[in-house]
Amino acid sequence: MSVLELHGVHKLFGDNHVLKGVDLEVDEHEVVVVIGASGSGKSTLMRTINLIERVDDGRILLSGDDITDPAVDVDKVRARIGVVFQHFNLFPHMRVIDNVTLAARKVHGTPADVARDRAVGLLEKFGLGEKVEDYPDRLSGGQQQRVAIVRAILTDPELLLLDEITSALDPMLVGEVLDLVRDLKAQGSTMLMATHEMSFARSVADRIVFMHGGRPLEVGTPEQIFEDPQQPETREFLARIT
Ligand code: ADP
Ligand code: MG
Repeated sequence: MSVLELHGVHKLFGDNHVLKGVDLEVDEHEVVVVIGASGSGKSTLMRTINLIERVDDGRILLSGDDITDPAVDVDKVRARIGVVFQHFNLFPHMRVIDNVTLAARKVHGTPADVARDRAVGLLEKFGLGEKVEDYPDRLSGGQQQRVAIVRAILTDPELLLLDEITSALDPMLVGEVLDLVRDLKAQGSTMLMATHEMSFARSVADRIVFMHGGRPLEVGTPEQIFEDPQQPETREFLARIT
């Protein structure tokens, strides 16, 4: 079954037609990686799915539910999607444990002790067991980003959206974050991810989507896209970035 379906999604900012009819599907347990030049609309695509941006045309289905229906409850939709962005968005005045459990307690109504037990278990599993009671400024960038990922998965979202989650990190710290994403894939998480880390994209993706000109210009397995790209624009992009 498809967790996510986009049908003819358009998004404009004034005259800037950023998404020009995007069709895309993400199946359950599938990892789809979006690549493309800066400004090609990767983040806008993510933001329309999370309903931060409303689409101008087209439909987005989450596990079959039309989330672009104007009558939809935006908070309820967002509660079904885990999101991690480029810049760590942990609350600086809250301890790690409170950052991680906040949405579960406030949005999902998970009892505080249940949320805490689950959060501590995940933090320990991902090497952050000693940081539970720390404030974010005591953590490295890589640790902060791993905390943000734990927060995003705490309530078992149907879909994880990861937008350039290593782009703001010291290169030394990228690996620990990508390892966590690999663990999530091994556990069967369904993910849509934008990244500039081509070797990582290649190793983790089930499918690669190359965004160009406001659409997925070429979609295929990592082998197809990296070994045998069909479109000249894909070849040019890959020659520039790798
Ligand atoms: P990418 O993530 O691939 O680098 P973006 O989705 O961030 O691309 O940007 C695509 C285009 O949309 C760019 O031209 C950008 O300037 C424009 N854009 C993105 N967000 C906004 C916004 N909130 N308001 C106006 N223009 C935006
Ligand atoms: Mg972006």
